[in-house]
Amino acid sequence: MLKRISNFFTKGQRRETVGDRLVIPTGQHSLSPRMISRDARKVVEVLQENGYEAYVVGGSVRDLLLGLKPKDFDVATNAKPAEVKPLFRRSRIIGRRFQIVHVQFSRELIEVTTFRSNETKGQDKKNGGNRRQQTDSGMLTRDNVFGSISDDASRRDLTINAMYYNPTDNSIHDFANGMEDIESRTIRIMGDPATRFREDPVRLLRVVRFAAKLGFTIERNTEKPMRKLAADLSHVSPPRLFDETLKLFMSGQGLATFWLLYEYGLFDHIVPALGPLMKDRGGLNSQLVEQAFTNTDLRIRSEKRVTPAFIYAVLLWPSVQHLASQYQSQGNSPAYALNKAAGEIITKQVAITAIPRRFTMPMREIWDLQLLLPRRAGQRAKRLSEHPRFRAAYDFVLLREQAGEDLDGLGDWWTAYQEASEEKQLEMASAQNDAGKKRRRRKPRNAKPKAE
Ligand code: ATP
Ligand code: MG
Repeated sequence: MLKRISNFFTKGQRRETVGDRLVIPTGQHSLSPRMISRDARKVVEVLQENGYEAYVVGGSVRDLLLGLKPKDFDVATNAKPAEVKPLFRRSRIIGRRFQIVHVQFSRELIEVTTFRSNETKGQDKKNGGNRRQQTDSGMLTRDNVFGSISDDASRRDLTINAMYYNPTDNSIHDFANGMEDIESRTIRIMGDPATRFREDPVRLLRVVRFAAKLGFTIERNTEKPMRKLAADLSHVSPPRLFDETLKLFMSGQGLATFWLLYEYGLFDHIVPALGPLMKDRGGLNSQLVEQAFTNTDLRIRSEKRVTPAFIYAVLLWPSVQHLASQYQSQGNSPAYALNKAAGEIITKQVAITAIPRRFTMPMREIWDLQLLLPRRAGQRAKRLSEHPRFRAAYDFVLLREQAGEDLDGLGDWWTAYQEASEEKQLEMASAQNDAGKKRRRRKPRNAKPKAE
């Protein structure tokens, strides 16, 4: 039996400290079991019926308290993965670093995580020992020591992500004043900030992501070591860092996220090639990136498709252009210079965030098309407009113009072209032919003729 220690009222709500936690009972918060998906409720029910503790936890509790729609529902329990699995028909144990159980339902997948401990020894003496591994920088590489619910709460990243909801009695179990931080809109890391960031530098990004996404303020002690520890991001594996960047850039709050990352010196460790070219806040490059995130955020909010290829194409474009112009000034053709620069910049970037080939290929096509779209005379216009990457490349042209680059009306021309009848399109393309001829005549004799 849990011992009731105290009763008190906050903002008219009754909250009880029970042992190691604050319990917010039914009626004293805005959640109700109906807000939890049927499948997640089912998982909790089955675990509890089998004598285990089970709660809905993490992002879904946070989002529901804020009146937002949760992305998914996670369940935490004191049952070990091998005990969870046999209770559900379509379930499997996955992961090495964190072993969890995936329970598949027809509509959704529920992740069931066993309570874990942040302690190196003690909690799980039988299997302890080598179950938790740490590198010299303090980073955790293996973390399978099981623990109690309060151990589990203290190894979570933020106080607002460490609340446990029991749909059976409609109570919230709060181990770190997460509810208070929700109310005061505060991002606070659990435990000692520097230690927690070193354990897993991705937490630096999570702090920023949730601050931007929720419009919360980063608490002072959490914020303090962030700049100094930014370089620890280099310890994160490139595939994981790539995944995190997608969450950062495609959250619907990409612009706010970008500026926070920039401000905390984190962005330099994500796309280092961009930093030096962004020094001038109002300059073309800053405008380009800012406009790209503004557009992306709008697209996400209106549920339009966005691709990581486009975002990465924008973020790397200033450095690709910069390097390409160096190669060009060494006497290389624009196409060759661009190609060489693109290859080199991508190789460097992929070593930091492992952008898969299915995105790097379209990135290169978008860049190539920036050289090709101005050359639209005769048959070229039609061929270009049928290129599988035309749409993205055209959007990229519009973006460059929005950012303030003067492309001699290129965007408008392509807009008009796409809207024109077939007859008019031919006319437009042949007018380009004539314009091209006129332009060529004015060029000095030794200029290389355009292949048109
Ligand atoms: P989202 O809406 O992005 O899914 P989330 O809070 O659910 O937000 P997840 O990445 O799904 O985020 O993680 C689920 C929970 O696991 C988090 O709420 C947090 O409690 C915990 N968690 C996730 N990543 C970390 C981490 N790097 N360190 C500590 N705890 C973490
Ligand atoms: Mg989640």
